[in-house]
Formats: sequence, structure tokens, C-alpha cells
Amino acid sequence: MAYRPHFLVLSGLSGCLPNDIQVFIEQRSAVLYAQELFSLSDRKAKKLMGSGILKLSLETDGAQYVQIYQCSCQSPQVHFELPASPDAKELIEELKTEADNG
Ligand SMILES: [Zn+2]
Repeated sequence: MAYRPHFLVLSGLSGCLPNDIQVFIEQRSAVLYAQELFSLSDRKAKKLMGSGILKLSLETDGAQYVQIYQCSCQSPQVHFELPASPDAKELIEELKTEADNG
């Protein structure tokens, strides 16, 4: 199966497994998702885009961090059991088609 770079949006508590994971093809979509999820200001979204991780407040955001991680795993489909974003659904369909074709 063809390798596709993909971005994971992870969020949760420091030192724990992420509470929420979403997979995206576009970094921009990943940032937009995180921005919407935590009502981030444009400034914070930019920071997240630049550094890949943003500290949050557990009291106000319900999570301690949000991270955008460019996943280099060879099988993006392992993430597809997660609730898929519209962006990821397209990728899933593509990969399924590729799999069907051989
Ligand atoms: Zn992956």
C-alpha cells in the first residue's frame, strides 16, 4: 500500500495517552481542527502551526496540550478506526481503491 504523509492532531493530559486523535492529510486542516476544538485565537493557531505543540489550560480548555504530529508510519489506515475527519475520509477512500486494484 502506498505511503501517504499524514498529520495527527493529538490532545489530552501531559504524560497520558491522548484523549483525542484525528488524522488529516493537510497540515492546514489539522491546525483548523485544533483551532475549532479549543477555540484558539489566530495567534495561538499560528504558534501551533509553527512549533507543532501548544500548551493549554486544563481548566478552560479541558486538555493540557494539543499537538500536531506529522506521522511517518507506513500504514495511515491504522488511524482510520478513529472517527474520521472529512479530510481523512477522502484519503481512506483513495487507499481503499488502491487496495482493491491490487
Ligand atoms: Zn500514521
